Amino acid sequence: MQSRSPIRQCVGCGARRDKIELLRVVNNKGEILVDPGGRTPGRGAYLCPNMDCLDKAVEKGALKKALRKDISDEIYEKISEEIKHD
Ligand SMILES: [Zn+2]
Repeated sequence: MQSRSPIRQCVGCGARRDKIELLRVVNNKGEILVDPGGRTPGRGAYLCPNMDCLDKAVEKGALKKALRKDISDEIYEKISEEIKHD
């Protein structure tokens, strides 16, 4: 039996996409991790895997709000590295 994966919303552009097409970023006990497998527990946010959506999400404060954490340069770099790897 096949089941579709859940739909999630990008915090950057607001597009609704299949969860597996989005990059999950998670606040795991105060540490921001990029979680490609979607298995890390914690408060998560989803992004289209491109820099436009990351920049939008940071600029409008949506990522900060979703993760309840300030997006430092270090965190920004970590997420952009993951996007560039894709
Ligand atoms: Zn997006």
